[in-house]
Amino acid sequence: MRNQLPMQSGSSNEFGVGLVVSGPSGTGKTTVCRMLLERQPGLHFSVSCTTRPPRREEADGRDYRFVSTEEFERKRQAGQFLELAEVHGCYYGTLREELEPWLEGGHDVLMDIDVEGARQVRRNLSTTKFARSMVYVFFGPPSLAEIERRLRGRGTEDEHVLARRLNNAKEELRAWREYDYLIVNDQLDQALHDLQSVYQAARRLTVRYVQPPWEV
Ligand code: ADP
Ligand code: 5GP
Repeated sequence: MRNQLPMQSGSSNEFGVGLVVSGPSGTGKTTVCRMLLERQPGLHFSVSCTTRPPRREEADGRDYRFVSTEEFERKRQAGQFLELAEVHGCYYGTLREELEPWLEGGHDVLMDIDVEGARQVRRNLSTTKFARSMVYVFFGPPSLAEIERRLRGRGTEDEHVLARRLNNAKEELRAWREYDYLIVNDQLDQALHDLQSVYQAARRLTVRYVQPPWEV
């Protein structure tokens, strides 16, 4: 996973693809995104800022930038966020530097953000040249009960936080029609295959190209 924008742009002839993944907590977004990133070394993961405390296996700068509420607020005041939202009682936001410069340089970007954040990205990019190279994917569970089973199995939240996440899940699940693609993460391998297929198809969108490779 690269966190520094390479000095050399990937190609001046095409914009990168912005792959936005949303869905309720516990559907397996992190798991599938990590697997996709391993298979696609050219894909940049947009590392979000968050005020939530890190989980045991999470690394600062790789999974998130873990910041204080004060630092988050400073960045917000300075206009550094492309989007931000309060999710399950903590703040999360995408820095502008994680998306637009990468797309401009021809690099593809993967974003794992909540439904409200995805709405803001769609709105904020709607009048830019990147609008049509963004692809929005909704991750759903096979059932509500499976979300709870997975969250309990993950064991990263106490009962209070878990109840909040489950409660929010019902609301978030209503938003699936706002997205271009729906992936139901039942079997992990199938979900990974589905996300990879969506990504590969997005790379072939004509709107990404400034010029085709040939001259007539
Ligand atoms: P999210 O990022 O959407 O909150 P995670 O990727 O953390 O979800 O996954 C939640 C839990 O569910 C993790 O313990 C993960 O290992 C497990 N999990 C993910 N996908 C599947 C799947 N297809 N089948 C069973 N368990 C899964
Ligand atoms: P978690 O705390 O489980 O890592 O993430 C909780 C929720 O926050 C998930 O729905 C995830 O997609 C969302 N999220 C992560 N980063 C961002 C971000 O930068 N912006 C927004 N709006 N949501 C985010």
